[in-house]
Amino acid sequence: MTTACMIIAVSFLPFFEAKNTVANYIVEPPGEGAERVDAVRPDLTVTEKCPACMGKGEITLEEQDFGQATGRLGGLRKKHLKCPVCKGAKKMEAYASPSSLAIDVTRDREKFQSEHLSKGDVPVGEAFIPREKYEELTERKDKERLKLVKETFGQPCRTCNWTGIEPCKKCDGNGFIKCPNDDCKGGWAVTKTTTSYSRTKSGGGLNGGSGNWRSSSGSRSIKRKEEKVSVNVCPDCGGATTVPCPVCLGRRAAPCRKCNGVGSRKKGY
Ligand SMILES: [Zn+2]
Ligand SMILES: [Zn+2]
Ligand SMILES: [Zn+2]
Ligand SMILES: [Zn+2]
Repeated sequence: MTTACMIIAVSFLPFFEAKNTVANYIVEPPGEGAERVDAVRPDLTVTEKCPACMGKGEITLEEQDFGQATGRLGGLRKKHLKCPVCKGAKKMEAYASPSSLAIDVTRDREKFQSEHLSKGDVPVGEAFIPREKYEELTERKDKERLKLVKETFGQPCRTCNWTGIEPCKKCDGNGFIKCPNDDCKGGWAVTKTTTSYSRTKSGGGLNGGSGNWRSSSGSRSIKRKEEKVSVNVCPDCGGATTVPCPVCLGRRAAPCRKCNGVGSRKKGY
């Protein structure tokens, strides 16, 4: 089993079947005492390995040479840090990846359709009803009932296509974005400071009891520039190089605003 990239498939097939059963109650109500089916959308939240530490709970930060170690004893540092994203929990809860959800929905929708078509069922909007029921209704010219079947099943929401969630626009449904700190190099904040100073070399010393340094004749000014590189664990990402998206907080998506997270609509709009 590969551990690096595990795509958790969500099945929408039971959801479509349940929706269809409910829509068919319009044609044939459930028998007395029969358990009524509820169309519940599959749970779209997944618990996955924290992407920042790959589920290890900690990260290892190896310092690269930015010039900061020159003259320092011990050379480049290596740090083991508790993962700043999951805080060591190793796992994170998020919506299933919107791009893989889109594939799951399309696949299950096709499966649902082909299964009913092969049984000889007749499509009524997005729903399917048994052929004999359909013929019965058309004979009776019961257009109203057919319309109800159609509305009960509903149409896919154009924004979220049955899923009820919208991918986050800020991170494209990734959940994470690159560390926003421009100075962040592989989890280290590298800052260069250049200090220029001039020092006056004086021939004399402390002059009298005034307490001030005073240059006397014959002094010369020396100008110097000093570049200092300081390297610290990045304060923005804590060394993780990525941060949870500030909009979805790492959840990748949010309930669809167009359909209030239902995933479908009764009629066209
Ligand atoms: Zn982590
Ligand atoms: Zn929607
Ligand atoms: Zn950073
Ligand atoms: Zn986001």
